[in-house]
Amino acid sequence: MNAPAIYLDYNATAPLRPAAHAAMQDLLWGPANPSSVHRFGRDAKKHMEEARRSVAEMVSAWSNEVVFCASGTEANHLALRGSGAGRVLVSAVEHSSVLKAAAHEPIAVDGHGIVKLEALAAMLTGGSAVLVSVMLANNETGVIQPIREIAALCHEHGALLHCDAVQALGKVPVDFGALGADMLTLSAHKCGGPVGAAALVVRRGLPLRALLEGGGQEQGRRAGTENVAALCGFAAALADTGGATVAELQRWRDGMEASLRAEGAIVVGAQAHRLPNTSCLIMPGVGSELQLMDFDLAGIAISAGSACSSGRIEPSHVLAAMGIEKSEASYAIRVSSGWATRQADIHAFEAHWRQLKARLAR
Ligand code: PLP
Repeated sequence: MNAPAIYLDYNATAPLRPAAHAAMQDLLWGPANPSSVHRFGRDAKKHMEEARRSVAEMVSAWSNEVVFCASGTEANHLALRGSGAGRVLVSAVEHSSVLKAAAHEPIAVDGHGIVKLEALAAMLTGGSAVLVSVMLANNETGVIQPIREIAALCHEHGALLHCDAVQALGKVPVDFGALGADMLTLSAHKCGGPVGAAALVVRRGLPLRALLEGGGQEQGRRAGTENVAALCGFAAALADTGGATVAELQRWRDGMEASLRAEGAIVVGAQAHRLPNTSCLIMPGVGSELQLMDFDLAGIAISAGSACSSGRIEPSHVLAAMGIEKSEASYAIRVSSGWATRQADIHAFEAHWRQLKARLAR
């Protein structure tokens, strides 16, 4: 089977950036256990601490606030389970790795997918051991949450805020201090780094119980030998500015959406502040599975809603929380671009969308 020639599924995972590949290549040979005292260990530790400094700098955090882990999923679990909160409040549009990490109460969102601040305020009544988790940008729609306001509200009521910034990193500015969150999740493979490297940024002094206990790595907050090569690839990917710029991605995406809207497409979350690379598009009456297969046959890789799980297409809880009817949600696809996308790729997608719609109308 030929691989799709056009990849527009960056929110599932991005191709590895050249700088990340270069940074990892030599380190993969090892031996590289940063806890070892000998010269190999010290060398590995030096590389890892450089990576930690550079990841921290990218999100305006301190190095010792960065806890390296193996996936965004793990970082989300560490945040929700390790904070010691007695009550956890989670926005209804979170990724399943947050929704399934702990028993929680859902926070409602409006028709644009934005957390209802008044609903959150009403839930934050007394009790100090409350943890709130709201993502910075949604993986299905790209909708961006007002995290600063949410953080202020949480702190006013003595609650902590965790923010899953996995989809935002590399696409919009992510500044730990300015956002005001107490914990922030990052993952390398969504922004051109390797799979298997991620971080939970934890505000200085915040107690956190480890999920994994053992060797005492990561200041006792995450046991297990760190994947030094992957972590260096993570740092290198964040520093690599090659390829399409965010401004280009946004311009191409906006042009495509405007032209497909004129053909009857519905853009989910169109009125909200969104990531520059993401479109959730409804082709009325045409199931997302059929669209996906048709695009795949044409050599264009896209996805339906969240593609994080097993390749199965299930009704989107994100679109349902936004009040979109189940039938309409079943017509939604997700198109997401990134550093190696060219304008011609977006044009090819657009042309195939029109062609498919016209073909099915006949
Ligand atoms: N959070 C969001 C918003 C995501 O989109 C994803 C993956 O799609 C994750 C967390 C999980 O990240 P990882 O694949 O690194 O476990």
